[in-house]
Amino acid sequence: VIKDNIATRDLPTTAGSRLLEGYRAPGDATAVERARRGGAVVVAKANLDEFGMGSSNENSGFGPVKNPWDAERVPGGSSGGSAAAVAAGLAPLALGTDTGGSVRQPAAFCGVVGVKPTYGRVSRSGLVAFASSLDTIGPISRDVAGAAAVLSVIAGRDPLDATSSERGVDDYARAAQESVPGVRVGLPEEYLGDGLEEPVRQAVLDAARALEDAGASVTRVGMPHTGYGVAAYHVLADAEASSNLARYDGIRYGAAPADARDEDDLVVRTRTEGFGEEVKRRIVLGTFALSAGYRDRYYLTAQRVRSLIAADFDAAFSACEVLLTPVTPGTAFRLGERADDPLSMYLSDVFTAPTSLAGVPAASVPWSVAGDGLPVGVQLVAPRFDEAVLFRAAAALERVAPFRDASPALGSDEGSRDGGST
Ligand code: GLN
Repeated sequence: VIKDNIATRDLPTTAGSRLLEGYRAPGDATAVERARRGGAVVVAKANLDEFGMGSSNENSGFGPVKNPWDAERVPGGSSGGSAAAVAAGLAPLALGTDTGGSVRQPAAFCGVVGVKPTYGRVSRSGLVAFASSLDTIGPISRDVAGAAAVLSVIAGRDPLDATSSERGVDDYARAAQESVPGVRVGLPEEYLGDGLEEPVRQAVLDAARALEDAGASVTRVGMPHTGYGVAAYHVLADAEASSNLARYDGIRYGAAPADARDEDDLVVRTRTEGFGEEVKRRIVLGTFALSAGYRDRYYLTAQRVRSLIAADFDAAFSACEVLLTPVTPGTAFRLGERADDPLSMYLSDVFTAPTSLAGVPAASVPWSVAGDGLPVGVQLVAPRFDEAVLFRAAAALERVAPFRDASPALGSDEGSRDGGST
């Protein structure tokens, strides 16, 4: 299953936007082409928050996705359809995209594995751009071995993406069979503070003990700029989005209204009718952050914060090889619960946005099922281009996680049949 902001030659690519309804890309994205060459069969495109902007899949122009574990809950976002499809057993593997958490957070909410590779590890050619300095494509799968297999075939240099890396691709499948003796694991204090739901805190502490039992050593580390991550992420991501989305003008992309009076009317109506509320909010915020007089105060300040956050990771990785943190502060929330409160929605990215800003790879691994019957994931983070250690640690956790092969009880809920989609 391919998230619908990734181009496919034989199926429409809408990015979850009414503006792109029926759009056909000229060919496969590099990641799709490589997955097919590796033996993958593309069975469907998956719903998402419009252009990847969201954490609940409620921002899709084509309706929300429901969580297979509980049809009254969100599956997370923006790769909600990809994660729900894998959790529901519709396909063993999916591609998602992650700009600030969009592979990892839905993976955690749906009890599946999600990997955000290092920025530059997987070509972005054929990915509908949201925030180009942050966008990544990554696998979602039932188990760690599945994600390793997918990443092995989609990773690597691509002449069509100048930011894709020349570095060789490690054998992730082999790494996923190894374990962690001697590996130093860092637990960042700032990720375990107030606002964390108890089952999530417990999952991280239990997972740390499990890694210790597997021969790793666990140390506490400090990452003092973590608290600024979401704010810096939103300034930068929205600024880049406001620039990237300028192409949707009814001329280059988007169906132009047939009775447009002039060019202005054409552009205004295309966007007014085609974009959803969240996309409009981000274009306005991003345009403001880049405007004369405010650029220094917002955009350039956020760039400086981004450097400080990257430095936090560099410092942490001088004391350890992999970090263990929560993915999200809590389990899947209810549909509608945060839809009218953008700030509380943005705060679900508090533990994923910093890694995106730093460009480092990170994975979400199912750890347990909470008392409310919803899955809880934990996040592993590694130094740039060291996805191998990520897979080693993820596999070590998977072997002993109380989650084991838990899966949602499907078909028992009326709600799953009335209007939900993947
Ligand atoms: N939830 C974040 C946002 O709304 C991240 C989205 C993503 O990674 N595509 O921007």
